[in-house]
Amino acid sequence: MQRREFLSAAAMGTVATLARSAAVIPQPVARPVVIGSVNGHFFKNGGQKTVIETAWEMMARGSDVLDALIAGVNIDELDPADPYVGFGGLPNAEGVVELDAAVMHGPSKRAGAVAALEGVRTPSLVAKAVMELTDNHLLVGTGAQHFARNAGFTIESDLNTDTSRQAWLDWKRRTDSANFPDAARRSLTEPAGGFAYSTHMYGTIHCSGVNTAGDVCGVTSTSGRAFKIPGRVGDSPILGAGLYVDGRVGAAGSTGRGEANLFSLASLLVVEGMRAGKSPKDAGMAALQRIRANTIAPRLRKDNGDPNFNILFFIVNTRGEHAGVALYGEDAGERGYAGQTNSEFARYSVCDESGPRIVNVEGLLPGTPQQ
Ligand code: ASP
Repeated sequence: MQRREFLSAAAMGTVATLARSAAVIPQPVARPVVIGSVNGHFFKNGGQKTVIETAWEMMARGSDVLDALIAGVNIDELDPADPYVGFGGLPNAEGVVELDAAVMHGPSKRAGAVAALEGVRTPSLVAKAVMELTDNHLLVGTGAQHFARNAGFTIESDLNTDTSRQAWLDWKRRTDSANFPDAARRSLTEPAGGFAYSTHMYGTIHCSGVNTAGDVCGVTSTSGRAFKIPGRVGDSPILGAGLYVDGRVGAAGSTGRGEANLFSLASLLVVEGMRAGKSPKDAGMAALQRIRANTIAPRLRKDNGDPNFNILFFIVNTRGEHAGVALYGEDAGERGYAGQTNSEFARYSVCDESGPRIVNVEGLLPGTPQQ
């Protein structure tokens, strides 16, 4: 879509939404925007449009905000090139791809999520089905898979690609030389399947958006921590951790070390900060301070006492004001998407009337995690 078309589509959406809201009660008018993790600006699954472009276009044409965001995220989930999301995501320690996802619909205050789901490429759609079809907010493991099958989703026996399978095999050879003696012939400093463990164990897609009426929604989807203990669930599908949306306040989503987020329920903290009057950036920084204060285990700290990991938040309020924040702004955690970026900075993706782009996040702390 050209910039001109973006503008006219946005204008059409504005007029339609204003007409609708004027007939009912006056609504806060927002600057429409879609934001997300940086992979939202990279992956197209062989098509023409990225995650954020797709979501923006659907939203501008008047689609429900959550439907638009999920349609965008589906592109990344289906794209085998993203090693941390959906089909081809890095598997667990047994070589099985287990996926987590959550969706939240701000205007209707509904939510759904799945965790440790095997065999469905688009866990965000299963999360939406949980939201729409059940009285529950979270289904896990085989129960989630049975639900998905009954809801009409195709269940596949294996979501690995050759690349993810090779990465697992390389990891296995390094970590289990008794059973995989080939490890003895390999250099332990050689990158494993292109994934250097210290920096590339994590990856996720988050996408949130607000339309001209101030309707705000969010989606988070991931294969979680690479080579995790089977059954490990991170922050992504947990409401208040990897995602939180309050239709009257805004949305926050996260990528990075999920355990740190789970301990602090930091997306909820961010949204509560905005409810109390903070800007998206200030609310994000306050949540990062909480995570820093809660990180006291020596194994999780750098020599100077700061957290030895990164975590990012993507934040938007119902006016369309947004921010991306991280413990370390200078840490390009997305180096896993090698070839697509040479940035040294953690970034986030934005799509609004000016078109799609990536923006540096604001860091709380100087430097980077220690390797
Ligand atoms: N937060 C995700 C998890 O812990 C992973 C990531 O975002 O990189 O499962």
